[in-house]
Amino acid sequence: MKQTFKPLPLLLLIFPLLLSAACGSKNLAALDVTERLEDNPKITWGVKVDTSLFGLYNIETAEIEGFDIDIAKALTKEITGDAKNANFVEVTSKTRIPLLKNGNIDAIIATMTISEERKKQVDFSDVYFAAGQALLVPKDSTIQSVSDLNSETTVLSVKGSTSAANIREHAPDATVLELENYSEAFTALQSGQGDAMTTDNAILLGIIAKNPGYRLAGDNFTDEPYGIAINKGQDNFVQAVNAALQTIKENGVYDKIYAK
Ligand code: GLU
Repeated sequence: MKQTFKPLPLLLLIFPLLLSAACGSKNLAALDVTERLEDNPKITWGVKVDTSLFGLYNIETAEIEGFDIDIAKALTKEITGDAKNANFVEVTSKTRIPLLKNGNIDAIIATMTISEERKKQVDFSDVYFAAGQALLVPKDSTIQSVSDLNSETTVLSVKGSTSAANIREHAPDATVLELENYSEAFTALQSGQGDAMTTDNAILLGIIAKNPGYRLAGDNFTDEPYGIAINKGQDNFVQAVNAALQTIKENGVYDKIYAK
């Protein structure tokens, strides 16, 4: 029997496949966040959950708490009208840029320094907090500053942080051991796997507040201006975040959060 070619059913079969392929190729991170907010006002922020003072999970309240969280809520309220539209997703220093680029989060507000290196991958808001890198040591340590770090000392830091890169410049002879996050790094310091731990002064002060057997060694040896990281191509969202930041700085909300 002669077979007849039936183009229509074939097209009907292929069309859904073509459609799903086309949709799949549209990276979530490339969709305009401000446009999406008109339909769905939720903003998903990547935050730390193990960093005292900035982003720390509180087991009793089952909430993440800290400066970054409060700023994210205040910005969400400015942008969408309701702080409850803020969603939070856990990031570490290492996972935050990949999660942003994959479209899992809309922005990173997680003790993240604005750096030229990172600007090649993401855009940043204006500065919202000025930190600087320092050293944490046990109270009885002989280390008084970064210049005391030598070939015999091991310094603990965290993967994906500027702290890990900076310490190699400031103490080129020291051994640097990189952990996954700050709670692991501090546990390593407590168990004697390193002589000092390094990251931003503000993060270290949060650790000292709960662990009085530790102190800072010397002054800050870098500047670490914190910014909110947003995907490239999201200029409208960057502008919205900067405008909201400006508003909360002018209306006293930022100062209240800072004082807290
Ligand atoms: N602010 C530094 C950084 O962005 C250290 C803190 C962190 O790892 O988040 O890398």
